[in-house]
Amino acid sequence: MIDPSSQARLTENWQAVQHDVDAATTAADRPAGSVTIIGVTKYVDAEMTLALVNAGCRVLGENRPQVLWKKNEEVVFPDDVQWHLIGHLQRNKLRRSLPFHPMIHSVDSPRLLTAIVEEATAQQIPTKVLLEVNISGEEAKTGLKPQELRPMIESQLGSSDTDAVEIVGLMAMAGWGTDADAARQQFAATRELRDQLTQQTGAALPELSMGMSGDFAAAIAEGATMVRIGSRLFEGLLPTA
Ligand SMILES: *Cc1c(COP(=O)(O)O)cnc(C)c1O
Repeated sequence: MIDPSSQARLTENWQAVQHDVDAATTAADRPAGSVTIIGVTKYVDAEMTLALVNAGCRVLGENRPQVLWKKNEEVVFPDDVQWHLIGHLQRNKLRRSLPFHPMIHSVDSPRLLTAIVEEATAQQIPTKVLLEVNISGEEAKTGLKPQELRPMIESQLGSSDTDAVEIVGLMAMAGWGTDADAARQQFAATRELRDQLTQQTGAALPELSMGMSGDFAAAIAEGATMVRIGSRLFEGLLPTA
């Protein structure tokens, strides 16, 4: 257990983030509740992760699968916690990860998608994934080039494994050091790419995972359905660098 004052601070942070996400949703003329907050817990240990769940956050994101496994060995999470894997994922980590029924945001190669289909089929665990697109065009960023997405969606739609893996949308991150305007333009470009892919392939692609602590309002204004928020939730709880 974490100490009561830390738990109180965490609850306060969670409520403040919910409030700000609601405000951004309303400001964008979007229906209340149309944006899911993914609490990104990569900065904290298993105890603090569970404390966030107890504060009310039931949707969690980890960027390293090993950490997801380890935390689940250390503490028992309620059954209704939903896990999201948001970081680069190696194919040899899939076998141990799928039993947690994660949504995988970070499909960044055709090879990874194929491996997920194989593992989801073998384990009979239907898996939802997002294609991670490098919308900023930065060399250093992970993610697929926009033109790589269509063939992946079409081959998945055409395969016999459509029950095992469903591509439900796109994930994107704004480039490093982009100002608010540039970030918003990249989120808009991600939505436009999604709309174009939907038209071209017939896949619905309802989900857009974009926006983090510093830029979620812009992402919500441009149609994000999932925001991945870490540091804002743990303000006042982490040692400052
Ligand atoms: C760490 C991380 C986040 C959360 O970032 P914050 O700025 O701490 O909110 C979101 N998405 C990904 C992929 C991350 O690795």
